[in-house]
Amino acid sequence: MQTIFSKIIAGEIPCEKIYEDENVFAFLDSNPVNPGHALVIPKQWSEGLLDAKEETLHQVISAVQKVAQAIKQATGADGINIIQNGGEAAGQKVFHLHFHVIPRFSDDGFQHWHGKGYTSPEQRKEIAEKIRQVL
Ligand code: 5GP
Repeated sequence: MQTIFSKIIAGEIPCEKIYEDENVFAFLDSNPVNPGHALVIPKQWSEGLLDAKEETLHQVISAVQKVAQAIKQATGADGINIIQNGGEAAGQKVFHLHFHVIPRFSDDGFQHWHGKGYTSPEQRKEIAEKIRQVL
């Protein structure tokens, strides 16, 4: 499956590469939330996290930690968000598994979404039970 990220890995589209090993590639996002915002991707294609091979996930999450530590140190960030958008409804635009590593600053003005809670304890129990049955 070819996406813009396969072309970036292949060097057909330029990028600001910050890390590469045998299995993983990391580069700066072209539209950063904050400077230093990077994307960490496996070279092995999968659409997202849910269809990725376990081995690929181990490789990529280990690189995410390494890259996040470097970004935090290099930018002096107060915190880091690791974000993985899974599917169009969740904001995924590029269908090649990627983790956003976003340096965050106490005064950067971004906010998380606010939870909407459960309508009742029964609703919470019911959804938990459905998930447990699938697991
Ligand atoms: P998604 O919404 O799929 O989780 O995030 C895709 C990310 O890829 C976006 O943050 C977007 O800015 C970034 N992106 C899309 N095209 C390019 C590109 O050609 N080069 C780089 N460096 N980043 C890209």
